[in-house]
Amino acid sequence: EGSWEALYRVVLLGDPGVGKTSLASLFAGRQERDLHEQLGDVYEKTLTVDGEDTTLVVMDTWEAEKLDTSWSRESCLQMGSAYVIVYSIADRGSFESASELRIQLRRAHRADHVPIILVGNKADLARCREVSVEEGRACAVVFDCKFIETSAALQHNVAELFEGVVRQLRLRRRDQ
Ligand code: GDP
Repeated sequence: EGSWEALYRVVLLGDPGVGKTSLASLFAGRQERDLHEQLGDVYEKTLTVDGEDTTLVVMDTWEAEKLDTSWSRESCLQMGSAYVIVYSIADRGSFESASELRIQLRRAHRADHVPIILVGNKADLARCREVSVEEGRACAVVFDCKFIETSAALQHNVAELFEGVVRQLRLRRRDQ
């Protein structure tokens, strides 16, 4: 049993409806709702990536209705070891919100280089696509973060997303 400090907190950010809860549920394998449930929607799981175990605590605490006194928006922006900024490829407004979130994160983490992954979810909705893969990728270059398109509906690239988070966290750890 590791201490709380040994855990990495991964905070999901993004507009309502982009698929944060769906991604978190897939990460957790749905049934493993965490003990900290009373504090918000928090999912804990140990992943084996490149032969090494890492425990992620995924925090789906951004939405207003899920916020109680424990998780203010300010604390969400402060407490992450890593951040996953989610938009929907079928919702340009959510893509624009992602940029705004990146700016807020930069303000909250001036000095430290917390890993950020930009996620274009709902990649299955090809006919409704409003944000191209190229735009997502270009945005990630500007944001200085990683980029991946996922589909929670098809369970596409969801495992890869969280494995990517683990790899980014390890890179940062080695840099220190
Ligand atoms: P949240 O508000 O960001 O937590 O988003 P939810 O996870 O609650 O998802 C909002 C809606 O989008 C739900 O109806 C989901 O079933 C749907 N949804 C989530 N991910 C996907 C996806 O990858 N593809 C499609 N087509 N629908 C999705």
